[in-house]
Amino acid sequence: RGRRSVDVPELVRGARSGDPRSVARLISLVEDASPLLREVAAALTPHTGGAQVVGVTGPPGVGKSTTTTALVAGFRAAGRRVGVLAVDPSSPFSGGALLGDRVRMGDHALDDGVYIRSMASRGHLGGLAWSTPQALRVLDAAGCDVVLVETVGVGQSELEVASLADTTLVLLAPGMGDGVQAAKAGILEVADVLVVNKADREGADRTVRELRAMLTLGHEQDGWRPPVCRTVASRESDTGVPELLAHVEEHRRWLVSSGEGQRRRTERATREIEAIAVAELRSRMGDLRGSTALASLAAEVLAGRTDPYRAADELVRQLGHASARMGP
Ligand code: GDP
Repeated sequence: RGRRSVDVPELVRGARSGDPRSVARLISLVEDASPLLREVAAALTPHTGGAQVVGVTGPPGVGKSTTTTALVAGFRAAGRRVGVLAVDPSSPFSGGALLGDRVRMGDHALDDGVYIRSMASRGHLGGLAWSTPQALRVLDAAGCDVVLVETVGVGQSELEVASLADTTLVLLAPGMGDGVQAAKAGILEVADVLVVNKADREGADRTVRELRAMLTLGHEQDGWRPPVCRTVASRESDTGVPELLAHVEEHRRWLVSSGEGQRRRTERATREIEAIAVAELRSRMGDLRGSTALASLAAEVLAGRTDPYRAADELVRQLGHASARMGP
């Protein structure tokens, strides 16, 4: 794949006019951490901000994919364009994962208004945390009204999705202690809407009651009390999915009216800038390794003429100068 042959403005034009191949290529550039990333981000960013980002999270097997598929159908029925990012840190697949998702989400794979993409970490640490926001940006600029971000796994990944999403759905299923476990894992705190899926199973009422009780124990985010709803995502009718969609829409309106939406997006942008800056500094530090500047600072410390803190200050100062020289 020759770098020279990639025409970023053309890909961005293609994506914005709804060409799925352009969308897919842009996401691949992002996933591969292409040297063209800066150009991609610069071209996309003016066209972003329109998509509502909805995180779908919960333990493995709870019904995230099934629910996501049902939500896609609901949004499509309302005429909205939808993107799906399935984020799986443990997935051994890379490009092949896309095919898997097309099979799972067979109903929608051929629908023009839906983009579905699996994100798999390509082995580098923090890869997904870093590439997912970029992939979101591609789908946003491509005109998706809603982007569903589905994360597999428990724990840290939930919290990371929540930091990306405008609205976070936490899925649980009936069963002993589910709610308690979720509370322990800190998952309840990130939920804007709690969903008890597999409500056709025994114990759903009890799980709903438990969750409601836990939520009344002091969980209220400035006027938003996360609703607890029940769904049977795998069923054709009487699924609770329309009610779930109504909660998502209600939360969207609340984000706007309360100013919380703006606050969350500002926080998201701040964290993204920080992450990029830290990565950039780290890479420049790497460039300095073996430089005469660093070697002479080390010699100064060894000789007792300076201390490591002052030497580090000096190094940071030099990194700043390096950035001024190198330009953007
Ligand atoms: P994920 O791992 O969280 O994405 O879970 P999946 O969506 O792959 O669902 C796991 C299994 O649960 C699949 O066999 C689904 O068909 C099934 N499932 C999903 N939702 C429901 C539900 O509401 N009721 C029942 N009984 N099964 C469900």
